[in-house]
Amino acid sequence: MVDHRLDDDYEALRQSVRDFARKEVAPVIGDYYEREEFPYPLVRTMGEMGLFGLPIPEEHGGMGGDYFALCLALEELARVDSSVAITLEAGVSLGAMPILRFGNEQQKKQWLPKLASGEVLGAFGLTEPGGGSDAGSTRTTAVLDGDEWVINGSKAFITNSGTDITGFVTITAVTGTKPDGRKEISTIIVPSGTPGFTVAPKYSKVGWNASDTHELAFTDCRVPAENLLGERGRGYAQFLSILTEGRVAIAALAVGLAQGCVDECLRYVGEREAFGRKIGTYQALQFKIADMEARAHTARLAYYDAASRMLRGEDYRKQAAIAKLVSSNAAMDNARDATQIFGGYGFMNETPVGRFYRDAKILEIGEGTSEVQRMLIARELGLETD
Ligand SMILES: Cc1cc2nc3c(=O)[nH]c(=O)nc-3n(C[C@H](O)[C@H](O)[C@H](O)COP(=O)(O)OP(=O)(O)OC[C@H]3O[C@@H](n4cnc5c(N)ncnc54)[C@H](O)[C@@H]3O)c2cc1C
Repeated sequence: MVDHRLDDDYEALRQSVRDFARKEVAPVIGDYYEREEFPYPLVRTMGEMGLFGLPIPEEHGGMGGDYFALCLALEELARVDSSVAITLEAGVSLGAMPILRFGNEQQKKQWLPKLASGEVLGAFGLTEPGGGSDAGSTRTTAVLDGDEWVINGSKAFITNSGTDITGFVTITAVTGTKPDGRKEISTIIVPSGTPGFTVAPKYSKVGWNASDTHELAFTDCRVPAENLLGERGRGYAQFLSILTEGRVAIAALAVGLAQGCVDECLRYVGEREAFGRKIGTYQALQFKIADMEARAHTARLAYYDAASRMLRGEDYRKQAAIAKLVSSNAAMDNARDATQIFGGYGFMNETPVGRFYRDAKILEIGEGTSEVQRMLIARELGLETD
């Protein structure tokens, strides 16, 4: 059966996030963005609304929903602003999900209730200064010394890693060599404030300016052996599955941005006049907006499809990569067209479309570049690379 209608629970969630985004985020986010400041009060409210706990079971303090619910929330937030949306996306998909999926009972008990309430943010440190796409090229090392891991290395571009409420970063590190000579990569939880773990000042970014991103360094940083997340040597497989899920969430965020461009343009072309007519009466602009709506709609169907396969427990790797690829394209194309429709005002930071333009590009880069998505799709089609 094919049915893309949302049930009442999903619809109610979507409506409440839409109201929050329009009434509470839209009026203030421009100032946070300009000051490059993390919006703590908004994040606190998102926590109180239960958004950080959407796919986390109630027994761990969450809402007992599913990953699709998270995607709907991300789409509605990103329709208004991507910095708050990526803070939620990274907080749940990269911060909480690794603990939920791979943590032992003690780790779940320690972290999940605080992550689900948004009281604490977790970060995910995979990318290193030397490379992100080739994620297996990890250079950070963790050596077991008695009952402690001694970590040395660095991580680049890590979201939510330096806020006042960041509780830990989960990092991938080389913990040995496998019998076949390949690196043994494991995942280790490093709590904030651990001696030897330093967080560099925040990056100056092109977009996502009200979100938190830092480079991290580990110098003889010691954490207890029990901070290993899941099985030793399974780090590579773990982050691949986390990134597959994350692609669906980023796709939803990208659809939100693409739809937000349509929202803003519909409003603007009904107000702005040129040559004595509302610019919305010119077919050239109507066609542009029609194309934008078509892109947002088709990209939404792609992420709905990937999410529904995920929830049914089917293999959804190809659909997740397709959803990430087409939705980030849609976001970029719509941001470019929306900026054009706004004319000079589109180039001003004060307009949401100026912000959308700056926020769109990263969607083709983060959580796997568009080239990486094409590599994944080609692999799923059985195409070999040398
Ligand atoms: C704002 C921001 C937030 C981020 N948050 C996080 C986070 O929370 N955690 C985290 O771990 N990482 C995070 N990242 C890192 C992000 O995932 C990486 O930037 C991304 O995966 C690309 O890696 P790279 O920057 O090292 O580019 P590279 O891997 O150096 O790639 C450079 C270029 O080469 C292309 N390329 C590479 N290999 C191939 C190939 N085989 N075939 C064709 N083309 C190829 C790439 O597509 C790209 O165009 C974040 C990045 C940013 C900018």
